Amino acid sequence: MIQLSDRLQAMEESSTLAMARISRALRAEGKDIISLSLGEPDFPTPEFIKDAAIRAIQENYNTYTPVPGYDELRDKIANKFLRDNGLHYTKEQIVVSTGAKQSIANVVLSIINPGDEVIIPAPYWVSYVEIVKMAGGLPIIVEASVEQEYKITGSQFEAAITPKTKMFIFSSPCNPTGSVYTKDELRDLSKVLEKHPNILALSDEIYEHINFIGGHESLAQFSSIFDQVITVNGASKAWAMTGWRLGYLAACKPIADACNKIQGQFTSGTNSITQRAAMDAMDADPQVLKEMVLSFEKRRDLVLSYLNQIPSIKCNIPTGAFYLFPDVSAYFGWHYKGKKMNNGQDLCMYLLQEANIALVDGSGFGAPKCIRISYAASEETLKRAMEQFTEALAMLKP
Ligand code: PMP
Ligand code: GLU
Repeated sequence: MIQLSDRLQAMEESSTLAMARISRALRAEGKDIISLSLGEPDFPTPEFIKDAAIRAIQENYNTYTPVPGYDELRDKIANKFLRDNGLHYTKEQIVVSTGAKQSIANVVLSIINPGDEVIIPAPYWVSYVEIVKMAGGLPIIVEASVEQEYKITGSQFEAAITPKTKMFIFSSPCNPTGSVYTKDELRDLSKVLEKHPNILALSDEIYEHINFIGGHESLAQFSSIFDQVITVNGASKAWAMTGWRLGYLAACKPIADACNKIQGQFTSGTNSITQRAAMDAMDADPQVLKEMVLSFEKRRDLVLSYLNQIPSIKCNIPTGAFYLFPDVSAYFGWHYKGKKMNNGQDLCMYLLQEANIALVDGSGFGAPKCIRISYAASEETLKRAMEQFTEALAMLKP
């Protein structure tokens, strides 16, 4: 009998990836599953990035790269931070990784000791809690209600701080709620961090460019807390490069050095071809993403128009990312052909079986009353999905 580690057994499978796995398997069996489970753009990677990758292969960029990434790429990332976010970093403060997921794991594993507390506002992205647990840390969840657009206030943050608090992790734009913190709301959080200089903040800004309210605001812009903030970003979402695997972080030098050391023992530098291609992405004017962002906004409105016609569903109006996160708890306890919907998981399985739509249950995001719809799909697909969704919910009986 294989004895797996306690660490592994304490870990939940990523619910986003689990649903993607189940829908792939059903598709392979010939079922016409509409997958709105995985958060990834449905656009192809832009041609200029693909061309850069082809050039890199032809120019024989086939060897290991420096662990934190090519110097030229880290310079370009530093330029990107200055150009888009007004943040001053040098390349020594930047570590490029195999996805933002690895950047987050590098930071948490570098900083968290067993018993350290990490404050995480809920709803949160699925992997934060599991990565903190892997490091032996204690996730301290602070709930943000739909009435506060799923964003916590400085006073909520402050009330959760104890002498054991080591870190704060959040995303804006947020996965799964699509909420975007305004500059004033971030300032409110920064004031708390200012009072607690030993607490670090990981600001996950991977949806930076998918923002429907104009500009993106970074937590690190507040100079009094600049060294306490670790900014994580990546190429996956803005540049439709989820499979290429490139994320990066910017932090004060000791944290960047620590992440470099950890990464050197786990994976080394990320894929050389991806890094060369990402150089062109970092140089590109984000204005070229305008069209993609407009199209996401149209899709948000389309899916919301269906949700708003279902009286039992409550949903916020997201201002970023590409997710809707409706509260579907009114259906809990309802049934179909003798099968009761006890929770969001039952509802997602029902929607998968009866409506052929793959969504993700909110419990992995710390919000068990909700389900997540990723609307990164064509309008035609979304219409079909939402018609099937509406019909399936109408078949449930109280
Ligand atoms: N943070 C958030 C909030 C995400 O939704 C994701 C999923 N892409 C990641 C980090 C990780 O992204 P990747 O590893 O593809 O860069
Ligand atoms: N981040 C995406 C999501 O939330 C991709 C899956 C994952 O990395 O967990 O669906």
